[in-house]
Amino acid sequence: LDPEEFRRLGYQLVDWVAGYRAGLRELPVRPAVEPGQIRAALPLDLPEDPAPDLGAALTGLLDDVVVPGSLHWQHPRYFGYFPAQASLFSLLGDLASGGLGAQGMLWSTGPAATEVEQVVVDGVARALGLDAAFTFDGGGGGSLQDSASSAALVALLAALHRADPRWREDGVRGDERVYVTAETHSSLAKAVRIAGLGAGALRIVPSWAVFADMVAADRAAGLRPILVCPTVGTTGTGTVDPVAAVCAAADGMWVHVDAAWAGVAAVCPEFRDVLEGVERADSLCTDAHKWFGTAFDASFLWVRDGAALPAALSITPEYLRNSASESGEVVDYRDWQVPLGRRFRALKVWAVLHGMGLAGLRAMIREHVRLAQDLAARVQADPRFVLAAPPSLALVCLRDASGDAATKALLERVNATGRAFLTHTVVDGHYAIRVAVGSLTTTQDDLDALWQILSR
Ligand code: PLP
Repeated sequence: LDPEEFRRLGYQLVDWVAGYRAGLRELPVRPAVEPGQIRAALPLDLPEDPAPDLGAALTGLLDDVVVPGSLHWQHPRYFGYFPAQASLFSLLGDLASGGLGAQGMLWSTGPAATEVEQVVVDGVARALGLDAAFTFDGGGGGSLQDSASSAALVALLAALHRADPRWREDGVRGDERVYVTAETHSSLAKAVRIAGLGAGALRIVPSWAVFADMVAADRAAGLRPILVCPTVGTTGTGTVDPVAAVCAAADGMWVHVDAAWAGVAAVCPEFRDVLEGVERADSLCTDAHKWFGTAFDASFLWVRDGAALPAALSITPEYLRNSASESGEVVDYRDWQVPLGRRFRALKVWAVLHGMGLAGLRAMIREHVRLAQDLAARVQADPRFVLAAPPSLALVCLRDASGDAATKALLERVNATGRAFLTHTVVDGHYAIRVAVGSLTTTQDDLDALWQILSR
């Protein structure tokens, strides 16, 4: 594909994306497909020869197979899981990143990729009101990981290394302990598994009030507490753990704060208290690809000790040696993550920051919180419904007052309309519907429509 032909096809595809986004409101949010239906509709054999018209083939696939076979996460009445805001600003940055095709694994392989990322993560740290210790100038630093799950894994590896530098040679001992709650995201359990600690290493704290006692008892039993993970905005109900108290009781272990969804709300001064206490944590993660306008994947991970991740992860074969790395004056982001290769993620975050501005991001978050409060007030005023948990930022959990079966049936009926999409959780042993407001194009009309569907 030469650049001129790419220009022609590229415009065609940009037109398709623009048309798709413009027409989203008219589509059913959830596809009406059965498992296997899409595979069966596609030819089994791959083409031996190039398509005569790739543009038509690709848009044909999108129109005929992909759109009718997709859950539309960017739909204005998508209220499922957590949002995955792929703003069109971020798509522009992603296109530029792909166009450059650079690998930013080392400073020397991507000086701009590295330093633009450093500027972006430092800037966002300041915008969220984080302690200066999490910035490069303050001795720490940030990175853009692919996901909060990866952020948790590398934080755990840094914790293992800090607890025992021989871990790099000897591996785990089996006496390590990691503290979470029953509401902690499953990525922590996965990180524990990947790190080879075994399920027994995961300690479920029943209440933060007993955390310090659990740690003391484990130490007395000869075990080694290495990491605790408080959550700012749990996946089920958006609960914010008491980070300051957890840090105070952490007794030298690594504190990793998982603020994957809610952390970005701190860009609004009135919501900054969600990050209260994180200044004493060792690492903090929040996803740009949930509620910060950025297409998957882009997850901020800040650490208070900028040397901690390289100390745990760096391995330097001859072919990666270079004078810039040896000077000690550069950041080599390969040492902050699992893969070697690295996308230029900062470009899409930069495009969001400059396209929306901090003021635009604040306005978006405030409007989502306002819409969620509006919904919560309607739920509270209607005896047929109850709130399943206190509303948290833009997340509302509700139930049909007549019980679990009715709540489940209600969720299924709402989703079957195709006019809105919701997901569920279990709160205190009972089924609950989650309404996560967060699509970039959701308006009051969409919220009204959702309420109407729920009420009917
Ligand atoms: N942590 C929390 C609190 C989450 O809600 C989620 C996803 O919803 C994750 C971690 C995992 O996010 P990611 O897809 O970035 O790994």
